Amino acid sequence: MALQGNSNEEKIWNFLMSKFNNAHGVAGLMGNLYAESGFRPENLQNTYEKSLGLSDTEYTTKVDNGTYTNFVKDKAGYGLAQWTYWSRKENLLNYAKSKNKSIGDLEMQLDFLYQELQGYKTVFSTITNAKTIREASDCVLTQFERPADQGTAVQEKRASFGQASYDKFAKKTTTNNSQGGTTNMSNSSLVDCTVLSPNHSGKRTHAIDRITPHCVVGQLKAENIGGCFTSPSRQASCNYGIGPDGRVCLIVDEANRSWCSSSSANDQRAVTIEVASDSTEPYAFKDAAYNKLVDLCEDICRRNGKTVLLWIEDKDKALAYNPKANEMLLTVHRWFANKSCPGNWMFSRMGDLASKVTARLGGAASTPVAPTPTPAPSKPAAPTNTNFPKTPFTVQVLVDDLNIRTSPRMGDNVCGTTGKGSFTIVEVANGEWGLLKSYASKKNGYIYLANGNYVKIGKTVAAETPAPAPTPSQPAKVELKDGDVIKLKAGATYWNGKAIPAWVFNKTLYYRGKNNEGIIFSTLKTGAITGVVKESSIENASTNTTTFKSYMVKVTADALNIRKGPGTNHAITGCITDRGTYTIVAEDNGWGKLKSGAGWISLNYTKKA
Ligand SMILES: [Zn+2]
Repeated sequence: MALQGNSNEEKIWNFLMSKFNNAHGVAGLMGNLYAESGFRPENLQNTYEKSLGLSDTEYTTKVDNGTYTNFVKDKAGYGLAQWTYWSRKENLLNYAKSKNKSIGDLEMQLDFLYQELQGYKTVFSTITNAKTIREASDCVLTQFERPADQGTAVQEKRASFGQASYDKFAKKTTTNNSQGGTTNMSNSSLVDCTVLSPNHSGKRTHAIDRITPHCVVGQLKAENIGGCFTSPSRQASCNYGIGPDGRVCLIVDEANRSWCSSSSANDQRAVTIEVASDSTEPYAFKDAAYNKLVDLCEDICRRNGKTVLLWIEDKDKALAYNPKANEMLLTVHRWFANKSCPGNWMFSRMGDLASKVTARLGGAASTPVAPTPTPAPSKPAAPTNTNFPKTPFTVQVLVDDLNIRTSPRMGDNVCGTTGKGSFTIVEVANGEWGLLKSYASKKNGYIYLANGNYVKIGKTVAAETPAPAPTPSQPAKVELKDGDVIKLKAGATYWNGKAIPAWVFNKTLYYRGKNNEGIIFSTLKTGAITGVVKESSIENASTNTTTFKSYMVKVTADALNIRKGPGTNHAITGCITDRGTYTIVAEDNGWGKLKSGAGWISLNYTKKA
């Protein structure tokens, strides 16, 4: 049976509804699948993409063609449900082979998932009978997916993902084309992923007759463009985001007014599209992103009954123009705010975009479309903050969730967020990024200083004597073992910043392992997990400071990267391919330092020899 639907999400929905026929239950399961994999059957757990040096597609291909042989035992989460445990991965692999399908095949994974669920009697009956999304979602979370953090915040988030699928498919909105045929309230079938933003004004008050392309200022993946707008404090959004590879993220339903172009009048009638771009002028797009922008504009025009996409370069003329019933008008952010958006790369292609789309639609402009301009580049508006005092200086962060990135570039990994408050910058990088004092020793925590809406620049403060950098002669951190007693530092929070209630804080707490977010702990020595805290929140309970004893490990992966430091944020300096035995002389956070001095390896792919 072929899957029915235009997107993975719709296909999964239809498949599961054909099996369970209960929208609440299916939505609850869907929210969990979305949280695990973003509905991508080829999804390899991100940390393993780095340690293995393989993308989702490469990993899938190598498992399929047999050149990667460690699928079952590599502990990497994979697929729709992020199957991780070896026996489940083994079953999945055998199932794929028996069906002669790729390990990343969506229909095969759905069949397997359904078969697996039949072995979880409570989960199966809850999905079948749930009266609310939350009921089903919590059951799948705690009894099927079982991630380390199953706290209220995670429960709420997963149920809200389920609600999004439910809203899309359970309540089939009837398209109303009777009022002049101008408003077709559907979303594009080009959407690859959905990260809905709460930042919008609900239904538009004006029919769609404009499209406004923007530049993201950073080569962000489609999901991450969506991720920029999930927090209400951002007070911003867009209808669609396009990543550098051309993948499309739905962020605000087309039917709703997004908060994107600094103009209510524009956003009420415009579909707004944020496209991944370079982070400096001319803010160029990748070809794949631009080509998808052309496709998406064509699709938006078609669904809204337009046969012409119009570009009028003169701002006053454009904004005064009243599009005819078959016309869609392009507008730009820089007309409504003192911004360079879109950068000159896109701005100089607005005419090209209009003529390409119009040609595909087979329409003819009723007014002359401006020739493709090669404009005298208008000077981009300078970022608000450009001059910084001598370091170290203070800054005031004005938003709840300013990203901290591991290096001073917009597209780089986000390793946390600052809340509002005062912070000290010890170094300015790339002219517009600040290294936070708390990340000074490893140089891996930067915030973007240039946006005056997010950051107010303060004054130079007196430098303190820096703490001495740890030297190899110092004792390495003591490795905590399962069941060890740990103590939280005063003021410690859960890894996501949520407060730890006093009744937890004051109990004897046990170390229960590690995950990407940090240390997993519990009020019980065995059994249910209580939560996860960042490693920095723990006072090492052990007084044992014996110096590190070197030991031997055997590499269990076919290819294991050697890195300059303990973590995937450090550069790769080599690769072990012989599954050989090596001596570890120091440990840090799951990484081991090679005696040879070649660098560090992830101990996840070794066993003690
Ligand atoms: Zn913009």
